Amino acid sequence: MRAFDYTRPASIEEAVAAWTPGAAYLGGGTNLVDLMKTGAMGPAKLIDLTCLPGLDAIEVKGDGSTRIGALVRNSDLAHNRDFAARFPMVAEAILAGASAQLRNAATVGGNLVQHTRCPFFQDGISACNRRDPGIGCDAIGGDTGSMAVLGWSQSCIATHPSDFAVPLAALDAVIEIAGPNGSREVPMAEFHRLPGDTPEKETALEPGEIVTAIRLPAEAAAFAAHSRYLKLRERTSFAFALVSAAAALVIEDGRIAAARLALGAVAAKPWRVAGAEALMVGEPPSPELFARAATAAMEGAMPSGDNAHKIELARRTAARALARAAAGTPAEMPALPASVFGDPAHA
Ligand SMILES: Cc1cc2nc3c(=O)[nH]c(=O)nc-3n(C[C@H](O)[C@H](O)[C@H](O)COP(=O)(O)OP(=O)(O)OC[C@H]3O[C@@H](n4cnc5c(N)ncnc54)[C@H](O)[C@@H]3O)c2cc1C
Repeated sequence: MRAFDYTRPASIEEAVAAWTPGAAYLGGGTNLVDLMKTGAMGPAKLIDLTCLPGLDAIEVKGDGSTRIGALVRNSDLAHNRDFAARFPMVAEAILAGASAQLRNAATVGGNLVQHTRCPFFQDGISACNRRDPGIGCDAIGGDTGSMAVLGWSQSCIATHPSDFAVPLAALDAVIEIAGPNGSREVPMAEFHRLPGDTPEKETALEPGEIVTAIRLPAEAAAFAAHSRYLKLRERTSFAFALVSAAAALVIEDGRIAAARLALGAVAAKPWRVAGAEALMVGEPPSPELFARAATAAMEGAMPSGDNAHKIELARRTAARALARAAAGTPAEMPALPASVFGDPAHA
């Protein structure tokens, strides 16, 4: 048994004041508590955020943006009908993640800050620069099937596991943060970090900072009619992504007026691909166009071991997600959200 302190603050200010080096914030605990059990993480103090007031609401603000409090449970967001109608690929991505029980417990803030599923990080025993900076990386030369093909370094080849984060990146979400130095905002593109020489710094959060909310700009709702999330995984019922894609289009008079594309599970952050988006604008949607965009999306990809297949898999996933988006958002959530089996017309 490892001893740790536990505290349940009643306000954001109290939570920040309770933070000391070695402490960790606790959301639903579905990731952190698992890592404490394996020994991958051993916080000296848990600061339970789940009773903080005012962080469990989904609100449309005066400027048309949508603010999701960090303590909103994954299920509550995905099943909120107004939210799902405005941001269907966000709802689809959440419902493609974990299991119903986990989604009921997990918070959206915790989902963004969750740690890599790299087995060498998680087991608490293997050499892992992300867990113990400077110790080395047993993943390199290990089983690399789930590892990165973009943006990795000799220090770390892990990927970021969140499904939710991928459409947020595509839709230019903004992360609201509170901490010892006050409040600030970070664009989603800058929230997760590539490993470089400091893989232990997974996000833009500074010590003691809390994610308080996630904001989607008003413009993000313009993609509602043509947006899909597609996720390839070893078991459709319940598994992290091997690769995934969030694709969103605005189609006017038979041509693409705006395009968004981000890939998941290919890097340590959601991989937004502005070049691929730009080449689709002004063009009529077609399989050839989507294949070109998908190829552009994977520009610079390199296997980090025996995982060259992920590059082709990601290309095909991106092209298919775009084709599904062009076909139109289904009126109802597919029975198997984000699955290749959930949409026979495009399977
Ligand atoms: C078996 C299993 C399968 C899963 N499959 C998927 C999947 O397919 N797709 C997917 O996306 N996810 C999946 N998940 C991950 C699950 O969605 C996450 O565990 C969950 O979203 C984390 O949320 P939480 O509130 O429980 O976070 P916690 O476990 O409480 O926290 C996770 C991390 O975030 C930090 N944290 C929590 N809240 C905040 C905050 N507000 N501000 C700052 N830091 C914070 C904690 O300190 C901790 O480091 C799976 C999990 C399990 C156990």
